[in-house]
Amino acid sequence: MIKVQEYRPQSFTDFAKEENVKAYQEALAKVRKELVGRHYPLIIDGKEVDTAEKLTSINPCDTAEVVGTTAKATIQDAENALQGAWKAFESWKKWDMDARARILLKAAAILKRRRLEACALMSIEVGKNYAEADVEVAEAIDFLEYYARSAMKYSGFGSSETTWFEGEENGLMSIPLGVGVSISPWNFPCAIFIGMAAAPIVAGNCVIVKPAEDAGLIAGFMVDIMREAGLPAGVLQFLPGVGKEVGEYLVNHAKTRFITFTGSRAVGLHINEVAAKVQPGQKWIKRVIMELGGKDGLIVDETADLENAITAATQGAFGFNGQKCSAMSRLIVVDSVYDEVVNGFVERAKALKMGTGEENANVTAVVNQMSFDKIKGYLELAPGEGKVLLGGEATGEANGKQGYYVQPTIVGDVDRNSRLAQEEIFGPVVAVLRAKDWQDALDIANSTEYGLTGGVCSNSRERLEQARAEFEVGNLYFNRKITGAIVGVQPFGGYNMSGTDSKAGGPDYLANFMQLKTVTERW
Ligand code: NAD
Repeated sequence: MIKVQEYRPQSFTDFAKEENVKAYQEALAKVRKELVGRHYPLIIDGKEVDTAEKLTSINPCDTAEVVGTTAKATIQDAENALQGAWKAFESWKKWDMDARARILLKAAAILKRRRLEACALMSIEVGKNYAEADVEVAEAIDFLEYYARSAMKYSGFGSSETTWFEGEENGLMSIPLGVGVSISPWNFPCAIFIGMAAAPIVAGNCVIVKPAEDAGLIAGFMVDIMREAGLPAGVLQFLPGVGKEVGEYLVNHAKTRFITFTGSRAVGLHINEVAAKVQPGQKWIKRVIMELGGKDGLIVDETADLENAITAATQGAFGFNGQKCSAMSRLIVVDSVYDEVVNGFVERAKALKMGTGEENANVTAVVNQMSFDKIKGYLELAPGEGKVLLGGEATGEANGKQGYYVQPTIVGDVDRNSRLAQEEIFGPVVAVLRAKDWQDALDIANSTEYGLTGGVCSNSRERLEQARAEFEVGNLYFNRKITGAIVGVQPFGGYNMSGTDSKAGGPDYLANFMQLKTVTERW
């Protein structure tokens, strides 16, 4: 057992202090000098491999800026990565849990030192403002620290509890699955990317990581940290590429043992289907771990502290421009306080500043052209589905910068069955729904096929207890914003079409990447 202090989540950087803003700006200058313009090759079996074609990252807040490039893996590269990972697995699976955990702890220590650089790179590559980026890097450090400690619990034969039986030794061993593929989204390109790689790796698996096309540089930055921390060649194969090409190939492959995926419902369901089909030569049922989208609702009833509810709604809706799976995209308000809450919410949202991530604007640009066009489509629907109370325009510019800018938008009196109330938009667009009373509000909240996050602002104990039992979400929050889960504190993941509820940052997360073997010896 490694001597470590009890797990404690990282605290966030206090940007109210001038010196911290200055330190971020210095990191930004360093990143622009050293990382922007850089090219990240594939890493296969510990060696850098380049490709003829490249993927280019663009700064969404200033589309004139090219952030850098990564290699674009081919099918042959994916095949090589898979074969190499199985070779590496032969020795990695025999490593002691503590020894594997040490690599994560070392990576956490390096990331702590490079925290502001990671923040700056995220501001430039995906437009995350520095306060949100800092919270994300803290989460990435937490994942490394937390999963390292989780792994230690599985040290030694028979580490899981079994009942004593006279005349026998019985033990339950947790063993790794083999080689899997980790396919991640662009919206948490540091924390989710590393969490989905580090957990299976520390459990003894080898992993091919396929980052999102828009966030290859921050992924490359994190892979460098894992290598510097001493991860042996082949344990983590870095494979930036196109999801439909190399991602699909690996999901299909007979030699892929597990797939851990975070992304949209449509792609997730497709992967689930493809992975279920047994390929010639395949000798296992692929394990699929899915974290998908949401249509997350916050209920405000007439007993609530309305100022607090308005704050919760504003923070939950517009943090990172609504581009969080947990973002509040439905505000459900009981009729008797509807006007007061909605007016307050609109007033608060009016004060939000649009601009770049590096100037810490409240609302920055959305990630790419496809997202911009998709959100624009919903904005066009809005006047027909409700009353546009704020915003409504995809401006494509802010403060003289051309980028994928969309105004914070609030649409009132939206029908519960309309597209705005049912579909994940993934942008700064909120549908407000009027409920007759508390019970109606809860029914509305449960009326989507998703079940990721949700919240209730109420001072009625009875209602909070009812919601505790009946609100169908994986992460439920009372009297606060519905985003910002902290590793180890609020294990995260959704039900229904929001995923397999694997609970990242939870006590059993590593079990997703292990199988159990019971061994009995009669004396
Ligand atoms: P996406 O589904 O478009 O892409 C996710 C990943 O899948 C990318 O790496 C992409 O290259 C890859 N991919 C695409 N097609 C593929 C295929 N056919 N086979 C294999 N891989 C393929 O999602 P996105 O736009 O990157 O992310 C946003 C989505 O992620 C939103 O729906 C959001 O709610 C969800 N999300 C969920 C959680 C959660 O914990 N539940 C967290 C973050 C984001």
